[in-house]
Amino acid sequence: MFVTFYGAAREVTGSNSLLETGGQKILVDCGMFQGGEFNSDKNFNPLVYDPRELDAVLVTHAHLDHVGRLPLLVKNGYEGHFFATPATRELAELIMLDALEIMEYNERKMGIPTLYHATDVAGVMQRFKPVNYHEGLDLPARKKGQEEIKVTFFDAGHIFGSAFVLVESEGKRIVFSGDIGNVIVPILKDTESLPVKLDAVVCESTYGNRIHEPSAERQVILEKMVTEAMQRGGVLMIPSFSLERTQELLYALNDLIDRKKRLPRLPIFLDSPLAIGATRVYRKYVEYYDDEAMKLHKNGDDLFDFTGLTMCETREESKKINRVPGPKIIIAGAGMMNGGRIVHHALRYLSDERNTLLIVGYQAKGTLGRKILDGESPVNIMGEQVVVKAHVEAIGAFSAHGDQDKLLDWLGGGGEVPKKVLLNHGEPEASEVLAKRLKEDLGVKATVVSEGLRVKI
Ligand code: ZN
Repeated sequence: MFVTFYGAAREVTGSNSLLETGGQKILVDCGMFQGGEFNSDKNFNPLVYDPRELDAVLVTHAHLDHVGRLPLLVKNGYEGHFFATPATRELAELIMLDALEIMEYNERKMGIPTLYHATDVAGVMQRFKPVNYHEGLDLPARKKGQEEIKVTFFDAGHIFGSAFVLVESEGKRIVFSGDIGNVIVPILKDTESLPVKLDAVVCESTYGNRIHEPSAERQVILEKMVTEAMQRGGVLMIPSFSLERTQELLYALNDLIDRKKRLPRLPIFLDSPLAIGATRVYRKYVEYYDDEAMKLHKNGDDLFDFTGLTMCETREESKKINRVPGPKIIIAGAGMMNGGRIVHHALRYLSDERNTLLIVGYQAKGTLGRKILDGESPVNIMGEQVVVKAHVEAIGAFSAHGDQDKLLDWLGGGGEVPKKVLLNHGEPEASEVLAKRLKEDLGVKATVVSEGLRVKI
């Protein structure tokens, strides 16, 4: 059994690992590299392996950095299946089509070619096979010299439908973590325990060197921020990631406005077709809900709808938001303000001191969100210099990733630690610190992987 790393090695995007076992070649995730511009040059590098030789592709979850290059596999001749949970399958289609739309826009405006076409996305969807959590999947021996391989998906508690994957073959057991969720996340169930008797775990390490603010405080902080913004009578803008973060915000606002009545009714707009599409998927798979969300759902509460909420799918619906006087809340993508409808709202509202910009997620260097968060003013928005007079606030507790404590608990929680841990999906500083703690605290042999590294298990 061998694992080779072709992405998310000493960085947090482009997840792509190849497992060779039982005579089969199995790819785990094939995500977009997202450094700097949307179409990072690395995405255009030719694939090192031949997709025609792959036997199966396992997909852990629907984030762009895990699914963004799946269509490239089809474009380059892959004819096998893609396996993921049913929700991941549906969310992945939304994410891939949204990415394609952005790439087509960039092609028209800047002449940057798209990585693939709509037919390639359709090709992925045709080959997608849904697999439920805990439902054993057997990858049959189809060629001479191959053995059957057993695969099981477990709930990773990271975003809706997310999984970590156990592969059993050649008498060995290996887990691919995908991304591991934060603690006490609304809607989602907790990350399932790591299976025992593992020969290796390929584990993400995004926050391997960080401890988050307590998640339980997120709603308290949100209530305070909304109340203050409303007292100023202005507009509260929340740039939000379409998957998970937005649904968690809607869930919290539903609780604060309709159930607990701690916030007054006011106009709230969800201005993102992608987030609205993703919310539909959240409504469909209620079996993924945690106990609290399930109880509310069974009592007839719509978790993602409440008094005053308007979903804006079309451009016309989006433009109508301008005519509604404050106070009002606008939730719109993109989460780091590097595109999407939030940019139009920022252009209109950032220069008024009654307004508020509330940041709820990680802001990468170079993005508009990061510049504003760092206090830059004026900022360039669609060619205009905008002086930032609005209040700028941030809540860190909404992170979708587990922190160092969560990762250590997950890897060491079963009492019997894995024989080997291979750390990917992290900046080198984060991964190195986690590797050190794994060795010192748990006595685990931990390696920070690099691109192209092939490890014998
Ligand atoms: Zn993720």
